[in-house]
Amino acid sequence: MKTIDDLSLSGKKVLIRVDFNVPLDENLEVSDDTRIKAAIPSINKVISSGGSVILMSHLGRPKDRVEEKFSLKNILNPLSMLLNKKVIFSSDCIGEKTQKLASHLKPGEVMLLENLRFHKEEKSGDREFAGKLAALADVYINDAFGTAHRAHASTTIVADFFPKEKAFGYLIQSELKSMNQVLGAQEKPFTAIMGGAKVSDKILIIENLLDKVDNLIIGGGMTYTFVKAQGGSIGSSIVEEDKLDLAVRILTIAREKNVEVFLPEDDVVADRFDNNANKSVSNAGDIPEGWMGLDIGPKAIKTFTGIIQNSKTILWNGPMGVFEMNSFQEGTKQIAKAIAEATSKGAFSLIGGGDSVAAINKYKLKDQVSYVSTGGGAMLEYMEGKILPGIKAIEN
Ligand code: AMP
Repeated sequence: MKTIDDLSLSGKKVLIRVDFNVPLDENLEVSDDTRIKAAIPSINKVISSGGSVILMSHLGRPKDRVEEKFSLKNILNPLSMLLNKKVIFSSDCIGEKTQKLASHLKPGEVMLLENLRFHKEEKSGDREFAGKLAALADVYINDAFGTAHRAHASTTIVADFFPKEKAFGYLIQSELKSMNQVLGAQEKPFTAIMGGAKVSDKILIIENLLDKVDNLIIGGGMTYTFVKAQGGSIGSSIVEEDKLDLAVRILTIAREKNVEVFLPEDDVVADRFDNNANKSVSNAGDIPEGWMGLDIGPKAIKTFTGIIQNSKTILWNGPMGVFEMNSFQEGTKQIAKAIAEATSKGAFSLIGGGDSVAAINKYKLKDQVSYVSTGGGAMLEYMEGKILPGIKAIEN
């Protein structure tokens, strides 16, 4: 894996694709700077090596034109504070003015380009546009893991213009390292915990993992498709009727591959989808009409946490219930705690996918697990066994 440490950066202009796609509040202020913080080590590496930095990113989903609320100017202040230095802003990512600003950059200086997606050529992966970005610099670093699964101009095509002078930044390096550690799990037992609303979103990752895991724990809304497929009663719980056969197929393949599958033995059920609904506990496959499963039950928590605490490699993707509502968060919270405990006993734990990351943050356990991925879609695709274009472009 060629990383930023393998290139000579002194006196060079270094174009870094970062993922500054951060949430902004109604005053256009950054409400979560995790992604900006994640890019700082690579930026500082260039500065300390005597290079200058040109940062490029997208922000939000502008409609191929300038929209103030998606301007990267909104992140200039927090970036400058985190770097502890002034950051030059270029109001376009290409063009004569940008070229001039780039050519005047001195070692140690940092420049941020305006939102790449103000040009439609970014998402279409236009070669000419990528060439204009490339012309700004001597070296290309990709550190935007969150968009590594997109073949956009700045994430993939631009790399062609740097046959040798290209590498991964520290963020992508650590993301790849932790995903590879899990996928190649040497430390057994390996337990994957899959949750969230739908089987259809997770099917490819589950299929890829069946070759690798010892235990597969299934929780969350997708449980009920599996339970119904086996003839259980699920009341009005969420279900994907067109995925019943698929659920049976997964269970059959798991059996053939000697993977132990754990579905919840019981559920916390509610009479409506509401934090203040009436609640009860029901055995799996025995949910009365008019009630819906919104969390795993106490028996399931006990079984799942036991399996997790005895695991040496753990992957968690997707909550065990509707954890956003406090009445139905217990399953997700206890699973998060069990993962932290297993980690303290030496297990390697990787948390990925938007909602499990939100959960681990909600319970303030981020620092007690081995790695929390910053890339939702990119992480899922990598774990599905796909080759990510942004990764391939550097490796080529
Ligand atoms: P995903 O994005 O597929 O990981 O799904 C996460 C979402 O699934 C969260 O917003 C949860 O509230 C939701 N979810 C988890 N369990 C259930 C359930 N039993 N019924 C309905 N939604 C659920």
